[in-house]
Amino acid sequence: MTAVSEPDTRTVVIVGTGIAGSGAAQALRKEGFGGSIILIGSETEEPYRRPALSKELLSGKASIDRVRLRPPTFWTEQGIDLRIGVTVTSIDTDSRTVCLVDGDSIDYDVLILAAGGRSRRLTAEDSERVHYLRDIADMRRLQSQLIEGSSLLVVGGGLIGSEVASTARDLGCSVQVLEAQPVPLSRLLPPSIAEKIAALHASAGVALQTGVDLETLTTGVDGVTARARDGREWTADLAVVAIGSLPDTDVAAAAGIAVDNGISVDRYLRTSVIDVYAIGDVANVPNGFLGGMHRGEHWNTAQDHAVAVAKTIVGKEEPFESVPWSWSNQFGRNIQVAGWPGADDTVIVRGDLDSYDFTAICMRDGNIVGAVSVGRPKDIRAVRTLIERSPDISVDVLADSNRDLTELAAGLVASPVL
Ligand SMILES: Cc1cc2nc3c(=O)[nH]c(=O)nc-3n(C[C@H](O)[C@H](O)[C@H](O)COP(=O)(O)OP(=O)(O)OC[C@H]3O[C@@H](n4cnc5c(N)ncnc54)[C@H](O)[C@@H]3O)c2cc1C
Repeated sequence: MTAVSEPDTRTVVIVGTGIAGSGAAQALRKEGFGGSIILIGSETEEPYRRPALSKELLSGKASIDRVRLRPPTFWTEQGIDLRIGVTVTSIDTDSRTVCLVDGDSIDYDVLILAAGGRSRRLTAEDSERVHYLRDIADMRRLQSQLIEGSSLLVVGGGLIGSEVASTARDLGCSVQVLEAQPVPLSRLLPPSIAEKIAALHASAGVALQTGVDLETLTTGVDGVTARARDGREWTADLAVVAIGSLPDTDVAAAAGIAVDNGISVDRYLRTSVIDVYAIGDVANVPNGFLGGMHRGEHWNTAQDHAVAVAKTIVGKEEPFESVPWSWSNQFGRNIQVAGWPGADDTVIVRGDLDSYDFTAICMRDGNIVGAVSVGRPKDIRAVRTLIERSPDISVDVLADSNRDLTELAAGLVASPVL
């Protein structure tokens, strides 16, 4: 006689409608989960592609409708109870309840925390002319002031700051980037590569100021003024502060869930409390390749977490193991990063740095740990496989542009021993 499996009557509550939360809801249905799914998010927009904020949305090349993750009818069709404009204010893990801002509460059997992050702020005060960029409301406010001929100070030359600078130049604004490090993007890329990207910005007319230890950013009637501790001073019509983000852990921490640079999870994305999971930007996850913990702030990592947590919840758990990769569009170039490139890595360049057609492979202790490519997305896929398989490949082979990386990686997948 064939055993008939019991229908799954659990209720999964998901906090956060970003790619991690909405991705988990979709992945649960894909895995055949038949219980209730309640997807709750503070933002008033239905789930959308957040990376578009600094790119096609800010530039005005796309409308919000073009960057929604799914058509509006999708959520109901999938039996996903999407509640937007609703904030979860507290969690009681004993009674398995989440409390909402309007005073309502919802019982859960399984809770997924996908609250993402918020912009790190310079000061607590708000100012008309000082902007941050994390959600649609931020983007709309910035866009209304980023008009042709206006001048912009970008505080922080990381990925988001660099993308805003690029979009602002496209819109006909003059742009100055104030960066604390000797070269922008140096936390993400090896210095030799970061310098090439900085040169790209300079050639597009961005005025780059490095080694800026910002003392104050003040707003007057005519604009904003940034002052560095060494006496340098810059003014502009408006400023965007892009100095990183902080994981949104307040509600989890108040509920007694372990938090350390994000919500701490194990390799199955389980938090310190039973049946509570954390995914996406908010989750600090064991790094199965390099050891230690890793909190990625990348779209694809959040997507991968969503798929993995759904599998765990339906009982098909596997330890989470995925080499992160991300992309950025700046001045018409597509930059992709895989793995964990570091400032002290040995860098092997394939292609030509000067024409922005290259892949730089990063080696640490004889192992491939990351790569940065401009205009070569296929290489990034291949390097992810190389990091996963950790093969014994000589530097000469890696540096040989006649050896196709995709073929090298495919060879590894077909026969693990080179
Ligand atoms: C401007 C910008 C550009 C980016 N560009 C790129 C890029 O080019 N490539 C790339 O790989 N990554 C990029 N990223 C990063 C990427 O967008 C994030 O890694 C990804 O969105 C993380 O998804 P998430 O679902 O974990 O978190 P989020 O997208 O932050 O979603 C979390 C959601 O939870 C909600 N929330 C928080 N607390 C509560 C609560 N208590 N109750 C209810 N809801 C709550 C928030 O309002 C938010 O909607 C960019 C990010 C920004 C801001």
